[in-house]
Amino acid sequence: MKRALGAAARDVAAYIRTLDENLSEPPLNAGAAVPAAAAPLQAPSPAPLPAPAASAAPAAAVAAEDIALLAEKVKNCRRCGLGIARLNSVFGVGTYKARVVFVGEGPGFQEDHEGEPFVGRSGQLLDKILETVLGLKRSDVYIANIVKCHPMKSPETPEAHGNDRPPTPEEISACRPYLDEQLRFIKPACIVTLGSVATKVLLGIDKGISAVRGHWYDYPVELFGPGHPIKVLPTYHPAALLRNPNLKRDTWEDMKMLKEFLEKPV
Ligand code: SF4
Repeated sequence: MKRALGAAARDVAAYIRTLDENLSEPPLNAGAAVPAAAAPLQAPSPAPLPAPAASAAPAAAVAAEDIALLAEKVKNCRRCGLGIARLNSVFGVGTYKARVVFVGEGPGFQEDHEGEPFVGRSGQLLDKILETVLGLKRSDVYIANIVKCHPMKSPETPEAHGNDRPPTPEEISACRPYLDEQLRFIKPACIVTLGSVATKVLLGIDKGISAVRGHWYDYPVELFGPGHPIKVLPTYHPAALLRNPNLKRDTWEDMKMLKEFLEKPV
């Protein structure tokens, strides 16, 4: 018992040391994460997008094709005002065969410029967590956001730093069907919500992340019919770890839970 505890303590210490390398300073622009106090209330449940057409092609190929069509739709989307000011839509990245989908709040400055989620300092930290605890790369999972375009305080200056804001309930409601459609195509076993906003929106609850992390929940939208819930594990947004390194230990615990879940036979 003592030996096991000692090994676990060494594991967590090594993990925290790894995450600290080059990542210990607070971010200049932490991407999409916002303080929990600024988080919007969950948006009303949106109407789903039309179901994809049936096809005789192999399932993985169909998913790739359908997701590409959906990404194109997002690229041209103007359902809400965010689509007018954005530099790039930020659809998602990773494999369509992922068993876990990580969901953040929305793109920040860097993501808007590169068109990929979690590419700034928060993204680097997420990559390190994936690698250190789960032994995975971002290409082994899928990473997306609740809204696909950069919410800006001042939409006329997309080149300005410090211009991020949380998405409004209306923007979340307009964009949410895209995420559910991505989930329908990918069919993950679980979702990890990163931070308060993604957690509140996906679970439909109004509690801070520290109150809900460390537990599994059922995704309230039955994408695959009754009795086939997607499990949801809330954890801290990587930007919160950059601001407060003391949260790394809790995140490690959460990722160990995720690892155990993913290692269970399907
Ligand atoms: S945030 Fe979503 S709903 Fe709004 S314009 Fe972008 S893709 Fe469309």
